[in-house]
Amino acid sequence: AEKKVSQKADSENLRSPICCIMGHVDAGKTKLLDCIRGTNVQENEAGGITQQIGATYFPAEILKDKTRELKPDAALKVPGLLIIDTPGHESFINLRSRGSGLCDIAILVVDIMDGLKPQTVESLKLLKMRKTPFIVALNKVDRLYGWKTCQNAPFVKAKNQQCKDVQNEFNKRLTEIIGNFKEQGWNSDLYYKIKNKDMGETISIVPTSAISGEGIPDMLLLLVKWCQKTMVDKLTYSEKLQCTVLEVKASEGDGTTIDVVLVNGVLHEGDQIVVCGMQGPIVTTIRALSTPHPMKELRVKGTYLHHKEIKAAQFIKIAAQDLKHAIAGTNIFVVGPDDDLEVIKKLTMGDKKTVMDRTDKTGKGICVQAPTLGSLEALLDFLKTPEVNIPVGGIGIGPVHKKDVMKARVMLEKKKKEYATILAFDVKVSPDAWELADKYGVRIFIADTIYSLIHQFKAYLNTHKEEKKKEVADETVFPCVLKIIPGRVFNKKDPIILGVDVLEGIAKVGTPICISQKEFIDIGRITHIRNNEQPVDLAKKGSAVSIKITGSNSLEKQMMFGRQFNTEDLLVSHLSGRSIDILKELYWDELSDNLRKLVVNLKKLFKIQ
Ligand code: GDP
Repeated sequence: AEKKVSQKADSENLRSPICCIMGHVDAGKTKLLDCIRGTNVQENEAGGITQQIGATYFPAEILKDKTRELKPDAALKVPGLLIIDTPGHESFINLRSRGSGLCDIAILVVDIMDGLKPQTVESLKLLKMRKTPFIVALNKVDRLYGWKTCQNAPFVKAKNQQCKDVQNEFNKRLTEIIGNFKEQGWNSDLYYKIKNKDMGETISIVPTSAISGEGIPDMLLLLVKWCQKTMVDKLTYSEKLQCTVLEVKASEGDGTTIDVVLVNGVLHEGDQIVVCGMQGPIVTTIRALSTPHPMKELRVKGTYLHHKEIKAAQFIKIAAQDLKHAIAGTNIFVVGPDDDLEVIKKLTMGDKKTVMDRTDKTGKGICVQAPTLGSLEALLDFLKTPEVNIPVGGIGIGPVHKKDVMKARVMLEKKKKEYATILAFDVKVSPDAWELADKYGVRIFIADTIYSLIHQFKAYLNTHKEEKKKEVADETVFPCVLKIIPGRVFNKKDPIILGVDVLEGIAKVGTPICISQKEFIDIGRITHIRNNEQPVDLAKKGSAVSIKITGSNSLEKQMMFGRQFNTEDLLVSHLSGRSIDILKELYWDELSDNLRKLVVNLKKLFKIQ
């Protein structure tokens, strides 16, 4: 499998680039491909939603024909373009190799009327994590009010034929969307305004209409030019097999088949292959290799071509025995005559192991479950980002069963109730599992976008946190340092009533107060705060308020201003180990740096370990 092939970049011997389409539901991904293909998959589907993975191969002649009007200066060197069409971004997720993206380039479709949606933002993050270059198709330009159709015209030509109002409206929306990209940390501009050297740094925007075809020539040419210019190395044809499972399908007659993307190398009927399976490596033999006809699409029935041998890049259906437990998102290997099968088996499973081993070292964390290795890895990547930062204790592929609930339940015993949670990304949950989860108080969240899953869990974490805050309200102490204002001592003993400046932190009703001398002496709790004669619950740093401290009567020694303490003594909130733990667990991310420092300093002062 790992044949050593001396590999030289060779612009005369390129494979076809692989392109994924991503974007928000309804942005027009399917329709765009329909438009290039001249087919109509979109309208055959329920509600127009893309429900299956598909791929279309566009041979070079077709690309040439479609881009003729733009008079491409450079020769077309790639043999074609393989575009993979996706529900959500599933196939992008599964086209992976050791954490990186396998597709060479992506089209991110944005609806010009809607702008960026949460799913678009998620796609942007995923593209960045996987380091995949991409262009933006700013789709549905024909929906601009008053748009004059220029069937399949290059964009600039179409734009020039529009009246001023339409052009203004276009510019306004474009500027807004460029602003949205900026908020996400990306520079972007119309593709023909970007200088060559900025390609890749600045996102190229191609305005398109999937209905009337404006901008489609531009999009195709840009994709091909970009690939030819920047990816000769990557696109040079090689004998070394690179092939990823995209989907595992139960099909009539053939039993199970797998849809794969052959990124590089060659496959033959009769090849012995090793596939990563749920229960271990699957060693099997290719019975049949089939592809859709060029320009047709795999979903349209009865259009398969059978092959004895097939070269990259292609989208292929493989029929072989025992594929039922194959895992999408993993690489397959061919066993060559000199290969050691055991070594290859290990190689095949290695990738899965790396992903499954990504649990938190402490063992504390939520459980996650996804249908494929690729989606699992993407979910883990998102959970690891600093903005999200949720530890993962358990990882699984496939539907959620009772055993997964039992795994999550362990967290209840580790006093991390909120981690007794399963995030089920695009997988089914068995009725038994639901029942068991209910019984034990394990939470299961389900969603088919990572965004929604994380959003739901964060909302739950917040509710959980608010409940906990209420539970421990009596024991919660915020740090504060107060200075008694000379001349504003209204009552010297219980209740002690003083005017104070809040030097640091937050003074709250309920806060136990002590004075800092050689040791700390408790003088009672704040029971009232008045600010400008108005009762308030708290006073922040910088404010001057009057406070009432009650309870020194019940202390061992009666505390009295002028006897045990006077205006030189600072009043500080009496933090305990427990109250510091509460602050750290429930309030830490709300406290300013200064307040955090104050807690740390007080902790030292109070000699709390
Ligand atoms: P997907 O979910 O991203 O695959 O979106 P579809 O391709 O299914 O398109 C969603 C809806 O938008 C359908 O009703 C399409 O007819 C419509 N649509 C897609 N592209 C365009 C376009 O360029 N112009 C207009 N006017 N409608 C479009």
